[in-house]
Amino acid sequence: VARNPGQPEFLQAVGEVIGSVWSYIEQHPQYAEHGLLDRLVEPERVIMFRVSWVDDHGEVQVNRGYRIQHNSAIGPYKGGIRFHPSVNLSILKFLGFEQTFKNSLTTLPMGGGKGGADFDPKGKSPGEVMRFCQAFISELFRHIGSDTDIPAGDIGVGRREVGYMAGMMKKLSNRSDCVFTGKGLSFGGSLIRPEATGYGTVYFAEEMLKKTGRSLQGMRVSVSGSGNVAQYAVEKAIQLGAKVVTVSDSSGTVVDEDGFSPEKLAILMEVKNHLYGRVNQYAERVGAKFVAGANPWHVPVEVALPCATQNELHGEDAKTLIKNGVICVAEGANMPSTIEAVEAFEHAGVLYAPGKASNAGGVATSGLEMTQNAMRLSWTREEVDARLLEIMQGIHRSCVEYGTDASGRVNYVNGANIAGFVKVADAMLAQGVI
Ligand code: NDP
Repeated sequence: VARNPGQPEFLQAVGEVIGSVWSYIEQHPQYAEHGLLDRLVEPERVIMFRVSWVDDHGEVQVNRGYRIQHNSAIGPYKGGIRFHPSVNLSILKFLGFEQTFKNSLTTLPMGGGKGGADFDPKGKSPGEVMRFCQAFISELFRHIGSDTDIPAGDIGVGRREVGYMAGMMKKLSNRSDCVFTGKGLSFGGSLIRPEATGYGTVYFAEEMLKKTGRSLQGMRVSVSGSGNVAQYAVEKAIQLGAKVVTVSDSSGTVVDEDGFSPEKLAILMEVKNHLYGRVNQYAERVGAKFVAGANPWHVPVEVALPCATQNELHGEDAKTLIKNGVICVAEGANMPSTIEAVEAFEHAGVLYAPGKASNAGGVATSGLEMTQNAMRLSWTREEVDARLLEIMQGIHRSCVEYGTDASGRVNYVNGANIAGFVKVADAMLAQGVI
C-alpha cells in the first residue's frame, strides 16, 4: 500500500489474487521463496509519456500515455490499449497484473501488459482520432515490437484505432511485423478476433452451466455495455438459444422484454460502430425501453454477462440479481464485479467466473493472430472459432482442476488465479532473480 499510493484498483486486483492463491502457496512453500510474490506484483517496466497533438481548431492538446510491461516470464508482453478519460496508472497497473494470469491461463506463450491514454475518443472527429493515435505511437513505438510487446484494442480502441497505430508503427520502424493484434483483415488480422472476447465469454458460461446439467438454451440473459465485447456476447448467446434482454452504455440501459434478434443486433452495431451513437438511439430505432442512468442489474435474469468496465456491478446489484434468481455470472469485462459483489455471488452459490478466465478468448485469439502472422497465412473462420472454443474449454478444465473444493464445488476465482499463477511462478523461479 505504501509503495502504491492512490492506486485502489491495482491494490484491489492484487489483494484478490494473492488472497485466493495464499492457501495454495502455504501448501507449496517453494512459491513463498526467492521474493517471488514481491517480484510478481511489481511491473517489470512502467512507461509514462506525453502525447501532444493538434485538434481541428488548431489548438494543442496534451494527454498522458502509458504502457505497463508487467511480466514477460512466459512470453512477450501482451495486452490491450485503452483510450478513456478515466485511464490512470492504477487502472492500467491492475489491468496489466490481471493480464499476466489471464494470458497464462490461455496456455499460449504470452506475458502480461496493458497501456492506454486519458484521451476521450467521444466527440472527436475521425481526423482528430487519427492524429491522436499517430502521436501516441510516435513515443510508444520505441518500446514495443513483435518479440517484446504486442498491444491490441480495449475500451475506446477498436479496429479503426488499431489500424492507425499499426500504420504509424510500420512507418516509424520500417518493418511490417505483427506489432498489433486486432488488425484489419487486409493487413494481417485474424478472422473471429472481433468476436472472440464476447463469444469466449458465452462459451465459458455454457461450460459452467453444462457442468451442472443445464445450458443457455431458453435462459434470460442480461448484458451490460454495448461495445465490442457486449455485441458479440449478445450474438453468441442468441445463437445458443438464450433470450438477451439488456444492453447498456454509460448513459443508461435498454430493456427489451422481447429479446434480441440478429436484426436488432445489426441495428445496434450500426448505431455503435458506424454512427458512434448511444444506446438510447438504438432503443428508439427498435422501439425498446430505455432507462436513463440505470445499469442492467435490476432486470430479472438467470445469466448476467457484465461486458462494460471495471467495478460496474456492486454488492447491492449482486444482491438484486440473486434475489431475482440469477444462477450464473460470467465476466466479459475486466473486474466488473466489486469484491462485495463477488462475495455475495459466492455466498449464494451462484456460478461466478472472473474475467481473467471467462474473457480470455480475446487475447487467446490475439495469440492465434500472432501465430498466423508468423506463419504468413490465414486460418478460416471455422478453424479459429474451433480453436477458441477448445481454449475456453481448456480454461474451464483448469479452473475445475485447481478450484474444486472438498465438497466438490468449483470456485472459479481460486481455480483461475491458481492455474494462472502456477505457470508464471514456475517460469519466474526457473529464470532466477531478474
Ligand atoms: P468498447 O469501448 O468497445 O465498449 C465499452 C462499453 O462499455 C461501451 O458500451 C461503454 O459505454 C461502456 N462503458 C465504458 N465505461 C463505462 C462506465 N464507466 N460506465 C458504464 N459503461 C461504460 O470496449 P470493449 O467492449 O472492448 O471492452 C469492454 C470491457 O471488456 C473492458 O473491461 C475491457 O477491458 C474488457 N476486455 C476487452 C477485450 C477485447 O477484446 N476488446 C478483451 C478482454 C477484456 P460508453 O460508450 O458510454 O462509454
